[in-house]
Amino acid sequence: MVAISLEDFSHLEYTCSNCIRAGAGVDNRILSAFATESGLGGLEFLTGIPGKLGGALAMNAGAGGHAIMDRVEEIVSLVHGAITKKRKDQCEFGYRFLKLDPGEIVLGALFRLESEEKSLISQRVEAFLAHRKSTQQVGFPNAGSFFKNPPEKPAWRLIDEAGFRGYRMGGAQVSEVHTNFLVNRGGAKASDFLRLGELIKSRVREMTGITLEEEVKISGTD
Ligand SMILES: Cc1cc2nc3c(=O)[nH]c(=O)nc-3n(C[C@H](O)[C@H](O)[C@H](O)COP(=O)(O)OP(=O)(O)OC[C@H]3O[C@@H](n4cnc5c(N)ncnc54)[C@H](O)[C@@H]3O)c2cc1C
Repeated sequence: MVAISLEDFSHLEYTCSNCIRAGAGVDNRILSAFATESGLGGLEFLTGIPGKLGGALAMNAGAGGHAIMDRVEEIVSLVHGAITKKRKDQCEFGYRFLKLDPGEIVLGALFRLESEEKSLISQRVEAFLAHRKSTQQVGFPNAGSFFKNPPEKPAWRLIDEAGFRGYRMGGAQVSEVHTNFLVNRGGAKASDFLRLGELIKSRVREMTGITLEEEVKISGTD
């Protein structure tokens, strides 16, 4: 596995016609705050999503019915040593999904946003943060939502209805607060999470016929 730092791709620039250009190394919260300060609405939902823009684009991160690709005008990437630009209509994307070429590294993106009163944008940012705090402050280390939401029902509800709230396997536990968050109660091994995830999938499938799909990316084992 190769680790690439995009720390030097942290530029943020207000361009003409309500657009912002941002580097893949920019923290999501900083991008959202920059848009708010620029009086541009549309990226408020990003404020509570941990990570950098590159990671958010790579999975088309989103919240509350919004997703980052909704606002993208163009993506700039490095593909086999060459810098390429793709307009949004040239990108294949969907719910928590963006198709990248093998080895493609996203360097940044251009966003088209709405010119609005800063106070209105700030109010929406606060509302997103308050909602996140009340539903996702789970108190233990976690990787966010473990499963994607299937079209039929939110994953947390399926997991809850299958009786897993608080269920523990080794150091891994289904959060008592948000049942799609698997938390580390201390000393959890990767295998604890993998076994717990598999058990949840098989019981939910048995009960509903729905196959949950991981939102987390799994690399390696213990
Ligand atoms: C507490 C918590 C809450 C969360 N809530 C949400 C939520 O509400 N909505 C949501 O959508 N997600 C949510 N997430 C998931 C979150 O979106 C991802 O963890 C985050 O976006 C990953 O970004 P990163 O910078 O940490 O990327 P990394 O973890 O470094 O990378 C993630 C993946 O993206 C790839 N990648 C990263 N950067 C690039 C790049 N520049 N080019 C190509 N590929 C790249 C990596 O190779 C890797 O496969 C949550 C996570 C946590 C921990």
